[in-house]
Amino acid sequence: MAVYDVQFSDMERSIRDQFRKYMEKELAPLTEKLENQEILPFPFIKQMVADLGLAPDADWLEETGGVKSGEGSAAASDDDDEEAKRIIAFAGNQLTIEMARVNPGLCSSWGVSVGLFAGNVRKHGTPEQIKKYVPSVLRGDKVGCWCLTEPGAGSDAFGSMRTTAKKAGDCYILKGSKTFITNAPYGDVFLVYAKDADTGAIQAYIVEREWEGVSTSEPFHKMGMKTSPTGEVFFDDVKVPAENLLGLGVKDRDHVRKSLAGERLGIATLSYALAEKAFEIALEYAKTREQGGQPIANYQLVQERLARMYVDISNSRRIVYSKQPSTSVIDACAAKLYVAEVGSRVTQQAIHILGGYGYITEYEVERLARDAKLLELGGGTTEIQILTIARHLLNENVAAQTFEAHSIG
Ligand SMILES: Cc1cc2nc3c(=O)[nH]c(=O)nc-3n(C[C@H](O)[C@H](O)[C@H](O)COP(=O)(O)OP(=O)(O)OC[C@H]3O[C@@H](n4cnc5c(N)ncnc54)[C@H](O)[C@@H]3O)c2cc1C
Repeated sequence: MAVYDVQFSDMERSIRDQFRKYMEKELAPLTEKLENQEILPFPFIKQMVADLGLAPDADWLEETGGVKSGEGSAAASDDDDEEAKRIIAFAGNQLTIEMARVNPGLCSSWGVSVGLFAGNVRKHGTPEQIKKYVPSVLRGDKVGCWCLTEPGAGSDAFGSMRTTAKKAGDCYILKGSKTFITNAPYGDVFLVYAKDADTGAIQAYIVEREWEGVSTSEPFHKMGMKTSPTGEVFFDDVKVPAENLLGLGVKDRDHVRKSLAGERLGIATLSYALAEKAFEIALEYAKTREQGGQPIANYQLVQERLARMYVDISNSRRIVYSKQPSTSVIDACAAKLYVAEVGSRVTQQAIHILGGYGYITEYEVERLARDAKLLELGGGTTEIQILTIARHLLNENVAAQTFEAHSIG
């Protein structure tokens, strides 16, 4: 049992063990091929969803579009309900951690498709949009993408946005391009943020790859997260049916703010997972690697490094296990900022403890360190988290700021 395992209940530990066993048995052996892009992540994701039963309500969504009949099965008491919700949330968090411990890139592909695409359509879409687009993505039959960033619009994604949608009869004409889009080269469905050409309002549109005028780039060559393909999407006067405007027009910008807060909490979880894994590798290595006739863990300078890594892990663990869907924007930024930095710091320390071996790919920590860097950039860079936190602290009218997207407060 790891030293930081002590807070798990029996039920939680058994959930953790089930996911850990699965990822180590099924995902770990594929990771080298995934990282070398010899195979794509999507067949594994589909298999994982089936094996672990990760899309339990896909059939129901297909039938109902998420509309409850009003005759709910009110058998369970409120307490049972609360406990069931808590366990489901724990399991979702733990699944992310176990996947990301083995392969953060796979977790990123899955998280964008299921969380940012399907999650947003499910939350804000019409029943028809939910029926049509959510179940196939939840099951892993289709790949979803979330498209906000543009070549000239990153941190200031809303203020500098150039992609436009112009109403023309019963459709919108979508024009522009998005970049750094996770899954884009193989995406089937895209949730695209664009400026209404007439009103300037930013809305989201559900776009299908098969439509005329939609194209994507080859996957980018990246420093890390190589399992997860990233690329550009181009919209060349694409006719988007009016019924594909998300929610037929989400009234205010809160939905983007909330999905960014969710993305940031997800990034904190990923960062924690890879830091935890790197720490375990370094701890084990320090106990077994001998220099000067004794394990390097006997040396106090190595002990200090391990102790400081543990402090980072322990603090991050509290953040990651206490987050809630209702976590405020400022706390989501704080979590993302802190834990993403821990991810980079701890993985670098792990490389150092392994010495020269830490620099060799076989020992895994160098991959985790490369993967960790993205988590300080994506979902809003460190600076954007700081600016957003500061704006909240200073009580400014954040909705009126020009930096309204990755920096939206
Ligand atoms: C692998 C990968 C996957 C991604 N996946 C997606 C995705 O699926 N969907 C999506 O929409 N986006 C995605 N992104 C985009 C990501 O969110 C952006 O890269 C990020 O928000 C930063 O934007 P930028 O790269 O344009 O950098 P810029 O905004 O140009 O920033 C460059 C530097 O300037 C700093 N800076 C910018 N503005 C300020 C300021 N006001 N004050 C102080 N410093 C500032 C930044 O912090 C950064 O250090 C992905 C990116 C990568 C690399």
